[in-house]
Amino acid sequence: MIAPFTYTGNPAKIVFGPGQRDGVAGWMDKIGCARALILSTPAQRAEAEALAGRLGDKAVGVFAGAAMHTPVEVTESALEQVRAVSADCVVALGGGSTTGLGKAIAYRTDIPQIVIATTYAGSEVTPILGQTENGVKTTVRDPSILPEVVIYDPDLTLGLPLAMSVTSGLNAMAHAAEGLYAQDRNPVSTLMAAEGLRAFRDALPVIVRDPANAEARGEALYGAWLCGTVLGTVGMALHHKICHTLGGSFDTPHAETHAILLPHTIGYNAGAVPELLAPVSAVFGGSPGAALFDFAASIGAPSALRDLGLSEADLDRAADLAVRNPYWNPRPIDRESIRALLQDAWEGRRPA
Ligand code: NAD
Repeated sequence: MIAPFTYTGNPAKIVFGPGQRDGVAGWMDKIGCARALILSTPAQRAEAEALAGRLGDKAVGVFAGAAMHTPVEVTESALEQVRAVSADCVVALGGGSTTGLGKAIAYRTDIPQIVIATTYAGSEVTPILGQTENGVKTTVRDPSILPEVVIYDPDLTLGLPLAMSVTSGLNAMAHAAEGLYAQDRNPVSTLMAAEGLRAFRDALPVIVRDPANAEARGEALYGAWLCGTVLGTVGMALHHKICHTLGGSFDTPHAETHAILLPHTIGYNAGAVPELLAPVSAVFGGSPGAALFDFAASIGAPSALRDLGLSEADLDRAADLAVRNPYWNPRPIDRESIRALLQDAWEGRRPA
């Protein structure tokens, strides 16, 4: 029987396919914009400048200062440039950090965003902005934060470094896995989650063997869209809470933290909602936590939090913080169990 549900789709335009990066000028026309500020991280400055060159008069500048966790100081200096060049839209070329900067600008100015996504993080299809000020990370959700146009061009991911491809893929899979048991899940989010997991199961092993494999890169980016959309439409639970805590308070790297914790958090919840996590077993075979651990190991993902610079002594405070604000999770949360989960993830132990 289909349980009662509410379904709300996010009103973004999604454009997918090799070569679609060349459609930016056309999309600017369609959304009524003529003066784009191009955003990137310092590492992707050359690609951002090349894009600005192709856009000609439609690009009024490049701001290549995007940084992880969207520091407010960076947003403020980008906003100065937005005003100085009278930009009427932003084009964010990059992963979650660059997308975050575009969202932070849109949140403050309501100018439209075009995102060209080059990792699998999924931020481009969510109305959520995480930003940091004085070392404190806060999250806001607002319709103005959702990018208007998202371009997925797999050609731009051919050079995504292998380690980042693996961890970013597992980061995306975490959105899908937690979406399967979300309280506000619906039949569409569940379909997207299962298909997103399948896409990464098929694509990531091929990418590991052959990072420039165009077909697998396309399939992974398609999976990223599906998993990101799940993140943008339904609520997350224990897994995202712990990753947020570790990233926010211990500065562990975003994608790696997700990759390491995924088997442990899903393993923790598996006994409480076996029927809801059945798609994980169907895609990967075996019990969800162990199956995800084995898949991650097979593609060379990092497996132990201790390798991210987290000390064993940090685990007590991490457990305290992770249980501090009560939040919904399919299996009840208590400090002792979360401390044990963190110990397992720190050591890289295979869940049952
Ligand atoms: P990132 O954007 O920080 O990228 C990591 C590095 O890889 C950067 O130097 C970047 O320039 C480079 N890079 C990206 N794509 C590349 C490519 N194709 N080829 C070569 N280099 C490339 O990493 P991320 O994991 O995509 O994003 C993490 C950030 O996104 C975090 O701050 C996280 O909180 C945020 N995030 C937010 C949401 C949301 O919904 N608000 C969702 C997911 C992630």
